Amino acid sequence: SILADQISAGEVVERPASVVKELVENSLDAGSRQIDVSVEDAGLKSITVVDNGAGIPVEDLEMAFHRHATSKITNRQDLFQIVTLGFRGEALPSIVSVADVVMETAVEGQPGTKIHLQGGKVLEKTASASRRGTKIVVSDLFFNTPARLKYLSSIQTELAAITDIVNRLALSHTEVAFSLSSNGRELLHTPGNGNLKQVISAIYGINVAKQMVEFDAEDQDFKVSGFVSLPKLTRASKNYVSFLLNGRYVKNSHLNKALIQGYGSKLMVGRYPVAIVMIQVDPLLVDVNVHPTKQEVKLSKEDELCNLLAKSVYARIARENL
Ligand code: ADP
Ligand code: MG
Repeated sequence: SILADQISAGEVVERPASVVKELVENSLDAGSRQIDVSVEDAGLKSITVVDNGAGIPVEDLEMAFHRHATSKITNRQDLFQIVTLGFRGEALPSIVSVADVVMETAVEGQPGTKIHLQGGKVLEKTASASRRGTKIVVSDLFFNTPARLKYLSSIQTELAAITDIVNRLALSHTEVAFSLSSNGRELLHTPGNGNLKQVISAIYGINVAKQMVEFDAEDQDFKVSGFVSLPKLTRASKNYVSFLLNGRYVKNSHLNKALIQGYGSKLMVGRYPVAIVMIQVDPLLVDVNVHPTKQEVKLSKEDELCNLLAKSVYARIARENL
């Protein structure tokens, strides 16, 4: 029901940035190589995502806007081996229940479809261009849930949250060309050639990228690798640290501590490195089902991973002979 969708929307889409995250993750799941995001007024006026992914076949289109209509899980075993980003089938129904949504989508070699929904109701469905991929425009977010609108932060804060999420998705998908623009101004543009250093450079600037060093290590359960800044390049916020677990952006306070431990006494109190840490692990050791937004994860053998990370960062920084 639309009410159930609005309740679930409270969990899945609490702010414009969460809408951007869900839409871009859908584009990624659809195998897109190019994803262009543009927002107006930090997404409150509109959020547009254009991808060149697989598209949605016309016969599946209305189902995609129904709760738990995920096309990504077919049996219980899948739940433990999640390789796609979405799997709950909650994002689209949640978003359409609190906004005005126009989606144009086409599968390779088939005529496209355009569908317009408002507050969860289909207003119009017509044929459209057959460019492979999907374009979705979400306008008037939270128009029918004024209480939620009231709790949003300033335009700048909401835009910062959007930038943050697109940055992290770009970092975790270097083979995808991303762009982000805000009120017509381009904020990010990544090449999509698989080169992580170039994505770091696009996001943080060439001078930051130059002061980062590559590291990697592995043991029987984990592989860790990535780029960390030298101790002279620090920031006053943890926001410049990203952990990607099997390619998925995650949050985990123990990993943060381990990373900082890896700098020994070289970091000043309250200062953080700039770091992109990639972790590869058997999906069976990960529990992603902790929260609907799926960022906070639980790991088996977390202590072992933290040790590996701290030791390898320590060794890498030591090699710079500082
Ligand atoms: P989930 O991603 O958890 O499966 P969503 O509500 O986010 O659920 O999306 C519902 C379904 O709509 C997806 O399973 C997918 O089949 C389809 N879909 C959504 N966005 C796209 C897109 N950009 N390209 C192709 N298919 C899409
Ligand atoms: Mg999804």
